[in-house]
Amino acid sequence: MNDIRDAILADQTDALAGLPVPESYRAVLVRKDEQDMFEGLPTKDKDPRKSLHVEEVATPELGPGEAIVAVMASSVNYNTVWTSIFEPVSTFGFLERYGRVSELTRRHDLPYHVVGSDLAGVVLRVGPGVNKWKPGDEVVAHCLSVELEDPAGHDDTMMDPQQRIWGFETNFGGLAELALVKSNQLMPKPAHLTWEEAAAPGLVNSTAYRQLVSKNGAAMKQGDVVLIWGASGGLGSYATQMALNGGAIPVCVVSSPEKADIVRSMGADLVIDRSAEKYQFWKDEDTQDPKEWQRLGKKIRELTGGDDVDIVFEHPGRDTFGASVYVTKKGGTIVTCASTTGYMHQYDNRYLWMNLKRIVGSHFANYKEAWEANRLIDKGLIHPTLSKVYPMDEVGQAACDVKGNLHQGKVGVLTLAPEEGLGVKDAEKRKKHLAAINRFRGV
Ligand code: NAP
Repeated sequence: MNDIRDAILADQTDALAGLPVPESYRAVLVRKDEQDMFEGLPTKDKDPRKSLHVEEVATPELGPGEAIVAVMASSVNYNTVWTSIFEPVSTFGFLERYGRVSELTRRHDLPYHVVGSDLAGVVLRVGPGVNKWKPGDEVVAHCLSVELEDPAGHDDTMMDPQQRIWGFETNFGGLAELALVKSNQLMPKPAHLTWEEAAAPGLVNSTAYRQLVSKNGAAMKQGDVVLIWGASGGLGSYATQMALNGGAIPVCVVSSPEKADIVRSMGADLVIDRSAEKYQFWKDEDTQDPKEWQRLGKKIRELTGGDDVDIVFEHPGRDTFGASVYVTKKGGTIVTCASTTGYMHQYDNRYLWMNLKRIVGSHFANYKEAWEANRLIDKGLIHPTLSKVYPMDEVGQAACDVKGNLHQGKVGVLTLAPEEGLGVKDAEKRKKHLAAINRFRGV
């Protein structure tokens, strides 16, 4: 592995084709024999530091249409938190089901699950039938894994019945020194970014793009008022940038003055600190308080000069969903991709049907949407948000930070890269965007 790392660090990526692929590599994984380790514990007491291990694993065989990538950096997404606490289900069930699809996918059904749905690195080998990429190419990977053998996936690859999130519903993810991806997950690494900056946006940036911008999501347009929950978080920090870039009016919800400063530094003026406002949308486990929804609506009108919300960018789920449906204006859209605080939502349906509102489900992004989202990063129109970077051996702590909502933006992880700040290939372009990059990296 050292030869590979040295060749990349010395900018001799052409040499990679001539180096042997190591038989094993270090990877972040959960173990099947530990999938019941947190049984009976409340979610808050389930500790990713106990379940995430860094171990040497065998390099998988390379199949047709696939690539093995030497991973320089990765990042922690919330899906790694879910895997590490075995909630809402153990991800070994996903691997078992995927293993039953074909002879080739059987490789994924192992007693360990290598996690991670982002990477920045260099292609080491490509399998038969891969023409677009070659060893030595500097890449990032999006996390959509599809088989594309069914007509349903050919208008919008997210509709493929065999659609999976790589590193969550498949094995051999990006939190590792090597990763196995389908070649149609690969995209060019933006040359002005470091490895850890390039590895940060992938999953959340693509998800926010489909959810907010794409016609498959809310199809945001200029002037739309967009309520963004968790506006300084993983998804939210990209949604905020997209709303600002697209001429929309983001109303950013955060939970502290520090987070309010972060979204202000991104250029958002309309900010609600939900902790300071002390919203109590739920009176008890079963009862919501419409007066609190109204209080949020009033606050939004105060900030917007009387406008209601065209689009709610939803992901907290149970805690906020009733309020989100209420504050959306007549004909508006609540677009949701998650339920962090609980997936059994309750809302007052009278507000939805009488006011012709739409609830739209959104999940990750197709290849085209992911490519467009990466293009925005490459053009310097969207910047990576990264609050902290950990070495791979401290990935448990990195996942704890995300689980505990102690982070802002994304949390990065160095895999083969020995330190932060490496991998920039276009110094001129970086110079042009440096002020913005630093501002967003500061989050
Ligand atoms: P994140 O970085 O943890 O950000 C989520 C933000 O939500 C937090 O920063 C927090 O911000 C806010 N939040 C948490 N609890 C809340 C509550 N009770 N009420 C209001 N706001 C609350 O996570 P993320 O990466 O953005 O992901 C968020 C969720 O989306 C996760 O469940 C993740 O699994 C899911 N997700 C789904 C997809 C998909 O394709 N379907 C893709 C990416 C992520 P404040 O504390 O500042 O308010």
